[in-house]
Amino acid sequence: MKPVIALVGRPNVGKSTIFNRLTKSRDAIVADYAGLTRDRHYGNGRLGAQEFIVIDTGGFEPKAADGIYKEMAKQTRQAVAEADVVVFVVDARAGVNAQDHDIAKYLRKLGKPTVLTANKAEGMTEGVQLSEFFELGLGEVLAVSASHGQGMRTLVDMALAPLNLPDPEEEGEPADPTVIKLAVAGRPNVGKSTLINTWLGEERLVAFDQPGTTRDAISVPFEKAGQKFELIDTAGLRRKGKVFEAIEKFSVVKTLQAIESANVVLLLLDATQGVTDQDAHIAGYILESGRAVVLAVNKWDAVDAYQKELLERSVET
Ligand code: GDP
Ligand code: MG
Repeated sequence: MKPVIALVGRPNVGKSTIFNRLTKSRDAIVADYAGLTRDRHYGNGRLGAQEFIVIDTGGFEPKAADGIYKEMAKQTRQAVAEADVVVFVVDARAGVNAQDHDIAKYLRKLGKPTVLTANKAEGMTEGVQLSEFFELGLGEVLAVSASHGQGMRTLVDMALAPLNLPDPEEEGEPADPTVIKLAVAGRPNVGKSTLINTWLGEERLVAFDQPGTTRDAISVPFEKAGQKFELIDTAGLRRKGKVFEAIEKFSVVKTLQAIESANVVLLLLDATQGVTDQDAHIAGYILESGRAVVLAVNKWDAVDAYQKELLERSVET
């Protein structure tokens, strides 16, 4: 599973610029004014053989009472919850301010591995100007310049160091070529859980031994019509004694990781809802990963002929 890095900090410190560097994209909107990234933004990054997922967030004000900053704070907390490590970005030029202190306090309480990063540090003498960031109580501060591409490699190395990841160069166990690794992706409520429960319910579950860590997605072996499958969880599989059942719990990170480990991704759509933006997003992730995709439309019984025709057309486009 790819490790997940969340970029957190107040607006305008350069989080999106760092995101674009790490994911080598021009995807995140970079701007001189605050409050532009309202949602979480996911991207794939790579350093040498090590791959990872980066989440960009808007400006974080833990104490925001309402409005857009409250929504951004909620998005940031969710990104942090999904992440293995937090990169807390501050502005080397602007220095420490009250908002940085609020964020630092939140992160210290949380206790997740955190890398304190001072951006916009191009042409600065580190020791002198950066010492004030020690008062945030998060240890060493790493000086980087995202817009000049300085310190990006060190940043990723420092972020991933506490995770003790296995060497990506080293081969894991060879995959059994007779087993198809299958992920079922789709928005909440399209019927992933029902589908999975139907499969798992009909077929005897092969003896199950799950060594992985909490970070790893659960995968469940099952057999159907003589074909062995390994079902990779995206819908929040839950163990119930010796059997598994799917609960509906949508996580972008889980979906991205499951797509990554799958041979085939089944993208489930909801006939009663048509093709939505979120469907298109997930389809985009699958395309980007280069995995084989099967498009399935659920709840076909619940729509009339006209809706069927509309849907068939929107799937085509
Ligand atoms: P975000 O709100 O934290 O995502 O910040 P952005 O990435 O949108 O950047 C805010 C502003 O800072 C933009 O005008 C960037 O061009 C600028 N910026 C980002 N990184 C650097 C840097 O390393 N040095 C300097 N001088 N400016 C930067
Ligand atoms: Mg931004």
